[in-house]
Amino acid sequence: MVFHFRALAAAVCVLFAAGAQAQVGATTPEQKRFYAIYKELVEINTTHSVGSNTEAAQAMHKRLLEDGIPAANMQIFEPFPKKGNLVVRFKGSGQGKPLLLMAHLDVVEARREDWKSDPFKLKEDDGYFTARGASDDKAMAAAFVSILGQLKREGFVPSRDIVLTLTADEERLDVPSNGASWLLKHQPQLLDVELGINEGGGGLLENGKPVLYSIQVAEKMYADYQLESTDKGGHSSMPTAHNPVYALSASLSALSNYHFPVKLSEVTQAYFARSAGFAKGQQFQDMQAVAGGQPSPEALQRLSASPMYNASLRTTCVATEVNAGHAPNALPQRARATINCRILPHDDPAAIEAQLRKLTENEQVKLTVINPPLRSPASPMRADVMQAVQKLTETMWPGVPVIPVMSAGATDSRFLRNIGVPMYGISGIFFDPSDARAHGLDERVAIPRLYEGREFLYALVKTLSK
Ligand SMILES: [Zn+2]
Repeated sequence: MVFHFRALAAAVCVLFAAGAQAQVGATTPEQKRFYAIYKELVEINTTHSVGSNTEAAQAMHKRLLEDGIPAANMQIFEPFPKKGNLVVRFKGSGQGKPLLLMAHLDVVEARREDWKSDPFKLKEDDGYFTARGASDDKAMAAAFVSILGQLKREGFVPSRDIVLTLTADEERLDVPSNGASWLLKHQPQLLDVELGINEGGGGLLENGKPVLYSIQVAEKMYADYQLESTDKGGHSSMPTAHNPVYALSASLSALSNYHFPVKLSEVTQAYFARSAGFAKGQQFQDMQAVAGGQPSPEALQRLSASPMYNASLRTTCVATEVNAGHAPNALPQRARATINCRILPHDDPAAIEAQLRKLTENEQVKLTVINPPLRSPASPMRADVMQAVQKLTETMWPGVPVIPVMSAGATDSRFLRNIGVPMYGISGIFFDPSDARAHGLDERVAIPRLYEGREFLYALVKTLSK
């Protein structure tokens, strides 16, 4: 998952005062333990090409065993070689269904020759931890492991079980080895939970200071379609009436000129209501209008000029790949395009597909579904979760507003939202959007921000399981 804060940062023009001066490194014994877990985890290569999620799952299993979590309450499932998943149950007193803590073990590829330092050695300098997975998602994975260890040492008995899943292949989307998806299919009883916390949220830094805290309560559905036009082809010296390239181009032009209708939801309205606090003049008024639920077409048009606001207002479908022809001197026999759609969670996927067909299909161009959307309804803004996040944010970063967001990208939360489990993207780690490096080169996290995030999650887990 990647943070998409860059555009949001541009809208942030009010600087909130940060809390007390942040610490520099690990100070408490628990933070030192956390550091050791974090370092071990990022130094285990978990890329698809040469890495092993199983090795990472085993290492975390060992840590938790040392912390006193009974072996009987932990399981490693390795349905595919090197694609291990760890499921841990921290026993509570049984008042209510479990709280799920979810993080993924796998990381995006990282090539040593492209990085300034070895991506699988934790580098500490300049106030940063640098490594592949330093933020996405080994920060949360290590934090959850260390939090369960601390709760065990404290003798804390939660009111409900806490279930931790550390899974494989989140970054590879809808593959069979995606751990979250696999567990739900093959071990659904283990994930019978009331609500869950996963990646997808985070704080925004501006000039090194926290200015905004986002909690992800919804995400758009991901879908791929293919457009294809074929012909018998022939010699290019004798063009015919039907050319697949021209036919496909006409369909793509129709798509490029179309905008799916704006559809507001509770999350979108809350998002614009809070974001208005950062806006001025016309934009402030436009955001207020969206927040009020009755924006004018002009207000929507102005806001839609921003790709980020546009993505939060409507479903989008865009051509991402084109492939056609087989020789410079031959009439094309085939032209194909991939259309990637990001469908609002409150839109109807069938209606989107029907509209897509209406726009692009004709006797020469056919549309097929390559990767169907998985329904992922927005999670309700539960009072217990929202209040806990609000209160902790106020304590740790006074004055920083909490904003509920719908992300345009996808996380593993979709599999749980799909079966009706409310999921919340909450990390407690703040990032500077101008320094966004997740999935990219020299991925890093500010050291004090990592420790703060861990403390935030510790307090949150306790609050939600008291
Ligand atoms: Zn991720």
